[in-house]
Amino acid sequence: MTRHPSPRRPKVSQPALAPTASPIPKPTRTLTILAQDPTLVVDNRMLTAAVTIPNEQLSAGPRGYRVQVVDYDASSNRWFAPPDASSFGTIEEPRDPYAQTAPRRQNDWLLDDPGFHAQNVYAITMRTLAHFERALGRRVSWSFGGHQIKVAPHAFAEANAFYSPPDEAMLFGYFDDGKGRRIFNCLSHDIVAHETTHALLDGLRPRYMEPSSPDQAAFHEGFSDVVALLSVFSVHEVVEYAVSRVTGRRAARTVDVARLTISGLRDSVLLGLGEQFGEGLSGVRGAALRRSVKLKPSRLLRHRREYFEEHTRGELLVAAMLQAFLSAYQNRLKTLGLTADGRLPAERVAEEGADIADRLLTMAIRALDYTPPTDITFDDFISALLTSDLEIHPDDARYRLRAHVARGFEAFGFLPASSFGGELGRWEPPPDGLNYSFVHRETLQRDRDEIFRFIWDNRAALKLCDEAYTEVGSVRPCLRVDLDGFTLRETVADYVQILTLRADEIEALPIPNTTKRIRRPPGLDDWQMVRILGGGALVFDEFGHLKYHVRNAVLNPDRQSARLAHLAESGFFDRGQPAARGFSALHMRGSGPSLRAFTREKRPWR
Ligand SMILES: [Zn+2]
Repeated sequence: MTRHPSPRRPKVSQPALAPTASPIPKPTRTLTILAQDPTLVVDNRMLTAAVTIPNEQLSAGPRGYRVQVVDYDASSNRWFAPPDASSFGTIEEPRDPYAQTAPRRQNDWLLDDPGFHAQNVYAITMRTLAHFERALGRRVSWSFGGHQIKVAPHAFAEANAFYSPPDEAMLFGYFDDGKGRRIFNCLSHDIVAHETTHALLDGLRPRYMEPSSPDQAAFHEGFSDVVALLSVFSVHEVVEYAVSRVTGRRAARTVDVARLTISGLRDSVLLGLGEQFGEGLSGVRGAALRRSVKLKPSRLLRHRREYFEEHTRGELLVAAMLQAFLSAYQNRLKTLGLTADGRLPAERVAEEGADIADRLLTMAIRALDYTPPTDITFDDFISALLTSDLEIHPDDARYRLRAHVARGFEAFGFLPASSFGGELGRWEPPPDGLNYSFVHRETLQRDRDEIFRFIWDNRAALKLCDEAYTEVGSVRPCLRVDLDGFTLRETVADYVQILTLRADEIEALPIPNTTKRIRRPPGLDDWQMVRILGGGALVFDEFGHLKYHVRNAVLNPDRQSARLAHLAESGFFDRGQPAARGFSALHMRGSGPSLRAFTREKRPWR
């Protein structure tokens, strides 16, 4: 039987009001989502979860202060009636319209309920945004500059889903899988979290879409999958399910810890991700995450030719982080007090797994502030992970996540870009003797021009290129709060340096303190213009002192030579223009009509 949501009001039962309404606005609310996707079925019902997200007074849609569901189907030119604002309650008494009905047995009617689809995409998008804001300790903007992203849960009839910056929207398609099932991408937790991450990452590090290296090309996809995977596994119900698959017993009160091996957990993670669903999505993004989970650690993969392709290479990032998650989880279970026969309460086992996934996700997001703003490599990301975590979480005794992350990447042949002061992976501190005499410490926390003054005054000490065009991207004060209550105040800023040269000027460019030169790639005409980039992330402490300067120098002959060679090899200079910017290009690899053209014509929200 094929299903398509009918354009009608959702079947929603109204939960009874609490006996006495509290006049105090609640900071958070819970909403019911599908824990992963419709294929995750337990006891004849699709597994649902109640997730906690920031509370707000919602309008019909739901439409909120950062996320607006616009339920328009461009393929059938239909609007779906949005769920009523009143079904979500008030800011003092928020309601989850599906709290009572969705977790029941035989809940496959949810597949036919466009109101539930709308709630599902709203809640997962908000949860991902909230996770970024909690991890980074500040507000995080969408890449397109507007405040509200539009989300279309039934945008078109095609096996695709993408984030579209020009539309300021995330568009989710639906399709028939050929086995009588209609698949809705908006009902897949990992796909929604993945697209949301593209929209946030592009806002935080816009230069990561520039052509640079196989690692940078892979980073956007890999990082979005890391967030998606860990988001799914920070849902208690999903971990509970995965554990029951390994131990073979549902609803057991205790679990035999010895059975929870890394390979057993890895296989069950895959089941948690709905392998069948992945097959239905073959050719689109959903399959990549599922392939990454299957990868067994090997240091050789990164050198294999197929792993230079950006989508495939991104899978290595996910596999390394998954390895870190599984080994941290297994280790943690061993250190807890087991009963005489080596068992633990099932509830506790699931809680620990969800908690480790949540912490690892927080660590991955927080690391972004410690990454260079241009030309990232996986090795840079490892150092960013380890350094940022060391700053907020000096004592890592409980889960030893830093050690597991380092080993997870090492198992795939990736090593930190830096190590300092006996700490594996730590970025080096900036040089002594920086000049702060002309900057106002207080203004330094929020003013791009003040940051520029600081950079300019210290350009020699910070080893900037004097001749390059230099621009400060952003300045953001942060108050980071660890899950254990530890707080850290930091200000993060970033700048970029750009040199534009003719091809025949490349090898003549003097590089300070070395006889090396940037190598001109073969096949370039003398007159062809080449742009080289560098830049740095500046992390200041609460007193306005620079703690870290994470940079890629614009005049780094080895790195720039490698980058230019990679661009030449990948045909970048032949095209004579920058690679297409936008995520639809990454995901539009299947056949079918041009969705972009389609949505441009039919954009109902502009
Ligand atoms: Zn993607």
